[in-house]
Amino acid sequence: MEPLIKVKKPVRTKSGVTPLTVVLAPRKCNHGTCIYCPGGEFVPQSYTNKSPAVMRALALNFDVKKQAESRLNSLIKMGHPTEKIELIIIGGTFLQYPLDYQYGYVKGCYDVLNGVESETLLEAQKTNETAKHRIVAMCIENRPDNCSVEEIKRMREFGATRVEIGVQILDDEIYKKIGRGHTIKDVIEASKRLKDAGFKMGYHIMPGLPYSNIEKDIEKFRMVFNDESFRPDQLKIYPCQIVEDSPLAKAYKKINYRTYTDEEIKKVLTNMMEIIPDYCRVMRVMREIPKEKMIGNAGLTSIRKEVEDELKKNNTFVREIRMREIGFNRNGLKLDTKLKIIEYDSSGGKEFFLEIVNSENVLFGLLRLRFPKEVIFPELKNCAIVRELHVYGQSLNLHEKGKDSQHTGLGKYLMGEAEKITRESRYKKLAVISGIGVREYYRKLGYKLEGTYMIKNI
Ligand code: SF4
Repeated sequence: MEPLIKVKKPVRTKSGVTPLTVVLAPRKCNHGTCIYCPGGEFVPQSYTNKSPAVMRALALNFDVKKQAESRLNSLIKMGHPTEKIELIIIGGTFLQYPLDYQYGYVKGCYDVLNGVESETLLEAQKTNETAKHRIVAMCIENRPDNCSVEEIKRMREFGATRVEIGVQILDDEIYKKIGRGHTIKDVIEASKRLKDAGFKMGYHIMPGLPYSNIEKDIEKFRMVFNDESFRPDQLKIYPCQIVEDSPLAKAYKKINYRTYTDEEIKKVLTNMMEIIPDYCRVMRVMREIPKEKMIGNAGLTSIRKEVEDELKKNNTFVREIRMREIGFNRNGLKLDTKLKIIEYDSSGGKEFFLEIVNSENVLFGLLRLRFPKEVIFPELKNCAIVRELHVYGQSLNLHEKGKDSQHTGLGKYLMGEAEKITRESRYKKLAVISGIGVREYYRKLGYKLEGTYMIKNI
């Protein structure tokens, strides 16, 4: 399928939906500050005043409605489709902000995309189900120790479908020394609860932290996938950097710390890329922090590309999702697609990873089906749960007809397969963690809204 309209920076929408990022007002995290983390006082925690999204938010005084409006207008101007939006909330730990701020913040985003102000969040969501700009997915950055059942329930009330948690390295000693304020146990519990609630979940991983080394980084990373207590759906890999205004900028000399060289980063990344299984997507490698804000080696932003090129040159088979997506593999695309299913244990439950791939393993669409470990909310009793349905390719608007993946019925086919697997199990129902803006789609497939999930008797 070729893009139907000419877009600037098409890579932004190659994965099927158009991201719209809003930034939180500055606020320090409750536990203190992790050693590598800048910001918090005048700039949102973990960002600098030179990050593009933060600069835009600063100019608008962090007013969420103004941010959402201005981003939406720029996306339209740049020619991106804006009918299917993924709302991404960044900066600090959202779940720790005052409750009225959290609810008001999310409602503000729905109101802007709806083009009308609603009385309540629920009303705004109802309006968004059929609005011109629908929120089809919502991502919140969070800490592993802010994922209690009550907090997860709140994220569902907001309409969130994806949560990214800071994991960095699975090592309690290092957590203590760098001031993370949580333990591996928190990561295990957060992973289980989030998956059982149907969230798509990502880990942030940080090689090169103080008190670690290359061997330890790789060993601990292996654990992320070898141990079924972890196994995230996606990763962001941010090698540790010394950023101005972070505690590390003050302490690095005293603790005799230095950042990895580019060669060391490449070595760690190459090893990590070889470990990552088919069901995981590497969302990003290296943070976008301007060089002038950093002390020591800043790390090349092109490192990912260099590592991937090197792996390809050596015929190393990289299985992670992003490298296999159709949007990035357009030349001479073979359409001999088939369904592939990978089953694996994950956080006490069972996962089925359904993929539509061609003979070269290029990915056209995927579905994540889970048999949960525990029933986390009453409406999920007797339910298997679809945590993600994603058809890849250039993002299209809702009325546009696609040629080879989006809007060609692959989504419906994958849902049918998930229903088949569920029917053969002890589960009587299938639930979907649907973004508010996708509810209509599931209604057409016979699903009904129960609590915040779309559910069908199987
Ligand atoms: S939890 Fe995240 S945002 Fe908060 S201090 Fe640590 S790294 Fe920064």
